Amino acid sequence: MLHDLQSRNNARPRSKALFEEAAGLMPGGVNSPVRAFASVGGTPVFMKRGNGAYLWDEDGNRYIDYITSWGPAIVGHAHPEVLKAINDAAADGLSFGTPTARESVLAHKIIDAMPAIEMLRLVSSGTEACMSALRVARAFTGRTKILKFEGCYHGHADMLLVKAGSGAATLGLSGSPGVPESTAQHTLTAHFNDVEQLKEIFSANHEAIAAVIVEPIIGNAGFIRPLPGFYEALKNLCDEHGTILIFDEVMTGFRVAHGGYQSLCGIKPDMTVLGKVIGGGMPVGAYGGRRDIMSLVAPSGPVYQAGTLSGNPVAVACGIKTLEILSRPGAYETLSARSSQLVHGFKSAAEDFGIPLTVDFEGGMFGFFFAKDAVRNYEDAKRTNLETFKTFFQLMLDDGIYLAPSAFEAGFLSLAHTEADIDSTVQAARRAFKSIGENATKKAGR
Ligand SMILES: *Cc1c(COP(=O)(O)O)cnc(C)c1O
Repeated sequence: MLHDLQSRNNARPRSKALFEEAAGLMPGGVNSPVRAFASVGGTPVFMKRGNGAYLWDEDGNRYIDYITSWGPAIVGHAHPEVLKAINDAAADGLSFGTPTARESVLAHKIIDAMPAIEMLRLVSSGTEACMSALRVARAFTGRTKILKFEGCYHGHADMLLVKAGSGAATLGLSGSPGVPESTAQHTLTAHFNDVEQLKEIFSANHEAIAAVIVEPIIGNAGFIRPLPGFYEALKNLCDEHGTILIFDEVMTGFRVAHGGYQSLCGIKPDMTVLGKVIGGGMPVGAYGGRRDIMSLVAPSGPVYQAGTLSGNPVAVACGIKTLEILSRPGAYETLSARSSQLVHGFKSAAEDFGIPLTVDFEGGMFGFFFAKDAVRNYEDAKRTNLETFKTFFQLMLDDGIYLAPSAFEAGFLSLAHTEADIDSTVQAARRAFKSIGENATKKAGR
């Protein structure tokens, strides 16, 4: 088996050559950082083609894909109905910079699925949607401060690239050079799942916080679920202090359930941010919420936000068809069943080789940590076994399984993943855990 792995491992010469070329052209050879494999090592795989649950790299190797473009490819790559919708739209022209009928079709689909959204604005990315939602929340409240949770990602706008300090209610330090301190200082950070700390932050910033933004299930620090009661407490604090609660469902929207995580937890956020799945693989984001808040957006109100390609016909057609396929009976039951089969398969294989692993999933989103105890926040996630993750990732990659190249990312599957695909994936995981377990025993014996 080792020989097989070795030969597969060496069978990516084109990826290597393409990466060397790209490195001279784009920073780190990529157009988005995680793609560079920095945290797992090795050369990123250049993908050439996707179909259903599979990706093929430039060297012709096939992988079962558990990134699905970080979520959007939820009906499977190159779904024929989606391709037809895109082709039909494109044949009529790519973009007009005028209103089009399709935009209302997509808006209806979103509003029907998420009753907390009474009005929305389409944009072209999750980043754009998050920063725009915060601008509106600040305008609505007349306040400047915002609160985010450590380990949550809300796109790369200046005010959101803020790391948490270690104490409670720490004033934000800029998380990236180039972000002015004067911008970062308005971003407060808190530990996810820590109600006591939240209370302290709210009382220290009495009626000063414009908005709290949160990934309702964190997917950008691995998969981290809220503890029971956490959102009830957060919602109460927000209501008490006149703070806008924003659910960033860019990842979870139409992925964990048709109505996003808000439909599962019963909390009605004031605003919601969407992206990823609603574009089905094309650039679409959205922010929306209460009508009184959204009415502030230009031209109905004074808060300016615009986009040349916002709501463009081709991207919107792709989103509409994707959401339509997802609304067919059984879609989320299928996604949940596959996720469950996958993570429970991982868990029992890991147990067989004495490797501590925690697993979780919701709908078509899943996660696992090499740890004994449940991970409740980013601090916990950082303490999990990152070295084992790295080894596991590489072994799986060489065995034709494409997982996210970081322990701090969730996994995603699609309607195209079959029980047999999941079964092969679990078999590969079993081989990987066996090899990890044997190495650990060897080291311990030495
Ligand atoms: C991906 C993501 C974003 C950013 O979306 P982009 O389209 O990459 O700009 C924002 N929030 C969350 C929760 C995300 O997962």
